[in-house]
Amino acid sequence: MTNSKTRLQSVMNFIKLAEQQANRSPGSVKLLAVSKTWPASRLRELAEAGQIRFGENYLQEALQKIAELADLELEWHFIGPVQSNKTRDIAANFDWVESVDRLKIAQRLSDQRPTEKPPLNICLQVNIDDEASKAGVHADGLMELAAAVSQLKNIRLRGLMIIPAIAETVEQQLDAFARAQQLFSQLKTNHATVDTLSMGMSADMQAAISQGSTMVRIGTALFGERHTPNKQ
Ligand SMILES: *Cc1c(COP(=O)(O)O)cnc(C)c1O
Repeated sequence: MTNSKTRLQSVMNFIKLAEQQANRSPGSVKLLAVSKTWPASRLRELAEAGQIRFGENYLQEALQKIAELADLELEWHFIGPVQSNKTRDIAANFDWVESVDRLKIAQRLSDQRPTEKPPLNICLQVNIDDEASKAGVHADGLMELAAAVSQLKNIRLRGLMIIPAIAETVEQQLDAFARAQQLFSQLKTNHATVDTLSMGMSADMQAAISQGSTMVRIGTALFGERHTPNKQ
């Protein structure tokens, strides 16, 4: 408990400082705790220390934790690759999906969202550095995809999610995040529901916050090093 609490406090302090340095208003950057590979007991400790948003990459693993933690009021974000045959469970169990990059997937999520639930919050994943190995819509196709997704009945388009290429220098980090911010502000002018720019992980959250991130996705700095390899 103490360890989780201390890590959470230190990440929150880091975010606060980065907000100040970037002249951002306090609280403008939200924290998503990325809990892949960690057992539900570790998430519960963080939740007891005040953390409400959790991000998961793998459906089966996530469903188990969602069930185990059903007594808590948590907000669940799916941030891993979305396969067509997983959309029904994702639509039924998550509050957000940050990794949508195709209309077909968004359409299925909308169709399969249970009617008693509020619209599913969606971020479109952008392949900001055009990497062959990475998911995400190409920047050129973003506005067209956003226009189509925003029309879906049970979907609320909230913004963008970015995973930049591994950067050699801080300048490279800043450059990718700055391009993402430009796309985000363009998207905002077209869609009133858009308010979320999800970018920044343990190693680059300061750079991301300086370039307008509104949500950092933090695993290692909150939980420690993952022992199982990141299958991403
Ligand atoms: C694992 C993961 C993170 C967290 O990365 P850390 O470096 O552990 O903070 C963030 N976003 C996505 C999409 C991830 O898969």
